[in-house]
Amino acid sequence: MAANILLVEDETGIQELLKFNLVKAGHQVTVSGDAEHALQFLKNTLPDVILLDWMLPGMSGIDLCRRLRNDERYQPIPIIMLTARVEERDKVLGLDTGADDYMTKPFSPRELVSRIKAVLRRRAPQMTDEPVEINGLKLDPTSHRVQGCGQALELGPTEFRLLHFFMTHPERVYSRAQLLDQVWGDDVFVEERTVDVHIRRLRLALEPSGHAGLVQTVRGSGYRFSVEVG
Ligand code: CA
Repeated sequence: MAANILLVEDETGIQELLKFNLVKAGHQVTVSGDAEHALQFLKNTLPDVILLDWMLPGMSGIDLCRRLRNDERYQPIPIIMLTARVEERDKVLGLDTGADDYMTKPFSPRELVSRIKAVLRRRAPQMTDEPVEINGLKLDPTSHRVQGCGQALELGPTEFRLLHFFMTHPERVYSRAQLLDQVWGDDVFVEERTVDVHIRRLRLALEPSGHAGLVQTVRGSGYRFSVEVG
């Protein structure tokens, strides 16, 4: 998933290293050298995630984090703190400020990319709170309800996430591995045939309103959510 990232970091070397790797991973990155500049930027633009260095000239990263957490407008934005400090005490303090995650320098850009992914996935409901409707099938992420032609449909939590992913990414084929990555997350070890099990359950759940056919098997490739007849 591509995200708009605000990187608040004063060291140019780290700015460049992180920006290079995040852009390579498909993200858009805005760099702020200090908290004041970051606040200015945030007035006009809400990023999907904020990477926040602890030690900044002027207002510290911790203070900025607290400030953002106390402001309703910024509360939903995931914050990952970056710091050179290693003490456990500081780690706890960092998390108490409302940061979602914490990384101690030096860290590998690869790990940062996967932490961003994890944090976005956890926070994805806020990012995509919009109800979706396709062909009379309605999914409401806020109330966790699914309706088919006005009829309430019962879905398990995995089937719900699977359907939400499908409905926000219709008419595209996804392999089992891609679905695992997108719906289950890469911190979970599940076999690919698990996907088949949940696809079957999803179809069964969509059966009562006649929407099971929207979940299509694409032979040799994976699955697709489509209103076209497969
Ligand atoms: Ca710094």
